[in-house]
Amino acid sequence: MNTPSAVLTGTGLFKSYGMARALAGVDIVVTAGESLAVMGPSGSGKSTLLHCLAGIERPDSGEVLLDGERVDQLREPARSELRRTAFGFVFQSGQLLPELPADENVALPLMLGGMPRRAAVEQARQWFGPLGLQGLEARTPGQLSGGQAQRVAIARALVGKPKVIFADEPTGALDQATGMEVIHLLTDVSRRQGAALVLVTHDANVARWCDRTVEVRDGRLAGDQAAAQTGTDAKAGSRR
Ligand code: ADP
Ligand code: MG
Repeated sequence: MNTPSAVLTGTGLFKSYGMARALAGVDIVVTAGESLAVMGPSGSGKSTLLHCLAGIERPDSGEVLLDGERVDQLREPARSELRRTAFGFVFQSGQLLPELPADENVALPLMLGGMPRRAAVEQARQWFGPLGLQGLEARTPGQLSGGQAQRVAIARALVGKPKVIFADEPTGALDQATGMEVIHLLTDVSRRQGAALVLVTHDANVARWCDRTVEVRDGRLAGDQAAAQTGTDAKAGSRR
């Protein structure tokens, strides 16, 4: 299952919230450096899958491997460190600390890792040019547009040189044109950094920018070989 180029592997993932089953047996492999779009209707389990792969939540059963090592069984302090060092996150909106200027928001993961403030901010500022944010370093999130704030969030996700970036509906709060610009930047900088990207979206125009698409239906993957093999749902199996 764990091919040599796999960076992240989820096997047999189940997760329920009370009586609600959010994941019903997902097998998924994220290859190093690839961008993977996770599509599917609202409530199908996309965010739960992302949370389980990223160590935000623990699956009820199944395994998550990062570079071949089990990470799902780690206790919270270790998972927290993993999220800070190996992963980057971009959410829909509201993820920046409102009282901090943009450059310090980007520097935060580095400072949390023990880097002195000055060095962290200096490193953070190097991302402002490539992301089209030059001159906005001192602005607080309230002084940024939605698209600018998402680009600051992308810089923050990238600053720690993660192996995998997780983005959950990162364009959900943006207009179409701004959203596409953000996706273009996100896929481009991830690729250039060699980071894999797991991008949850229900927008096919967004998914088009990714190398590969899988679809979640009722907590299972459709349009994915593992799902087709077990015969659970071969409906969308033609899409790679
Ligand atoms: P999606 O991201 O595809 O919209 P989610 O993964 O958020 O779907 O949710 C999958 C299912 O699990 C839904 O039925 C949702 O109501 C339920 N669910 C998700 N998170 C929770 C939670 N924290 N508590 C209870 N139910 C949840
Ligand atoms: Mg969701």
